[in-house]
Amino acid sequence: LKSSSSGPGLHVIHIAAEMAPVAKVGGLGDVLSALSKALQKKGHLVEIILPKYDCMQYECIQDLRVLDLVVESYFDGRLYNNKIWVGTVEGLPVYFIEPHHPAKFFWRGKTYGEPDDLKRFSFFSRAALELIHQASKKPDIIHCHDWQTAFVAPLYWDLYAPKGLNSARICFTCHNFEYQGTTTASEIASCGLDVHHLNRPDRMQDNSSPDRINPVKGAIVFSNIVTTVSPTYAQEVRTSQGGQGLHATLNDHAQKFVGILNGIDTDAWNPATDSHLRFQYNADDLEGKAENKKALRRHLGLSFADSRRPLVGCITRLVPQKGVHLIRHAIYRALELGGQFVLLGSSPVPSIHREFEEIANKFQNHEHIRLILKYDEALSHSIYAASDMFIIPSIFEPCGLTQMIAMRYGAIPIVRKTGGLNDSVFDVDDDTIPVQLRNGFTFITPDEQGFNGAFDRAFNHYNSDSEGWQELMHKVMNIDFSWDTSASQYEELYLQSVSRAKAARCAP
Ligand code: ADP
Repeated sequence: LKSSSSGPGLHVIHIAAEMAPVAKVGGLGDVLSALSKALQKKGHLVEIILPKYDCMQYECIQDLRVLDLVVESYFDGRLYNNKIWVGTVEGLPVYFIEPHHPAKFFWRGKTYGEPDDLKRFSFFSRAALELIHQASKKPDIIHCHDWQTAFVAPLYWDLYAPKGLNSARICFTCHNFEYQGTTTASEIASCGLDVHHLNRPDRMQDNSSPDRINPVKGAIVFSNIVTTVSPTYAQEVRTSQGGQGLHATLNDHAQKFVGILNGIDTDAWNPATDSHLRFQYNADDLEGKAENKKALRRHLGLSFADSRRPLVGCITRLVPQKGVHLIRHAIYRALELGGQFVLLGSSPVPSIHREFEEIANKFQNHEHIRLILKYDEALSHSIYAASDMFIIPSIFEPCGLTQMIAMRYGAIPIVRKTGGLNDSVFDVDDDTIPVQLRNGFTFITPDEQGFNGAFDRAFNHYNSDSEGWQELMHKVMNIDFSWDTSASQYEELYLQSVSRAKAARCAP
């Protein structure tokens, strides 16, 4: 066990519920591994703490082994042992916590969506801090993510700093303010937080119900750095329409709150080396993309008679945020416009799942439409590679990664101008935007007419100007979506925070 960084870099520990590819549900998983890799490349010591889920991709972990250390952590009035595993995931050291708790918190066959998620993750947050403390680590930055590990911030300052774990500054990143983990006030006592001390309007009390506690609000109040995942979303959540009840809190803490646009892992998402693809390709040789389109059409039983017929892709969680009514509409509109449509989506919402299941069944033998309602990493790569266009009609979108992945694979994005989509997709027909930045099709009004405004234009461009389309593909595939710039911004925030803390310690 390393106790601190040996080089000049910072020692950063991420505590999170997801990490790609071992435990990925959505964008958080991608961000965690890509940001960590980028920081590691810059010379920092980066470690990650995750729950040891039974349903992880264990084949992605190298040298997984149990440590001698058994970490005892407090929950519901007593101490529980935690077995600590360590392994390497894509070159990053990762600790996995396996609680010996009768509720078998991470032995559920899924990551989230259990009735006792609040207990599961508040337990994990406390055990992660306990691990850092008992292993005598002295990190410079503890970086927690989303409501599942938001408890880390108040736990650190109220319980662990007084115990001597006080080397770190706390950074909290909210990847989506829709999920705040709000709960009855008494529940946070389980992990040892003091309800009376924290259930106050300027601390963890939920802004709309005084008898409830809001973990995300707690992390905003108690962290030294608060970030979210794009500059536009950072502005949106500071308004009453976009703030999901937290705008006032974010405005109170505005001086420590920033939006940093996510990047993507350009090694994992690289059409020139992607082992999930039948044919690798790059911006200068798009032959392979056409071959992948043919292969996917064949694989899914779609017609491949006309190679120029545009293929529209959509890969998403099917939740209201993603504009499900517009996704449904796009399926029919693509058909009307002479295109093909492939949706890869999974929904945790039963009514949405049923609705899309009906559409999937209706089109199950259709030559131009295919809906695949599951989570499938390998298939997602093939769809990005095969698609000519890619739709993201989100109602709100903190950052969105699929538009960047799509572009890297030469699929032109058609998106609603919101959040991170507004920071990464610029309309090809918008004269107010410098030509070199224009890379897709955008719309504002979240209704069918608004969507058609962008979708129909994309089809027109595709059908009427095949050379222009090729140039556009070439251009979007060459955009730098790597983490280099964004990781430097995180690095800068970490360094500023660490040096402020040092200055405060040295002050007379
Ligand atoms: P969110 O985090 O809101 O789900 P993002 O755009 O930030 O959305 O990240 C989505 C990530 O999850 C992308 O890597 C995308 O390819 C992947 N993804 C979403 N749905 C599926 C699915 N059904 N199968 C495989 N990958 C999926």
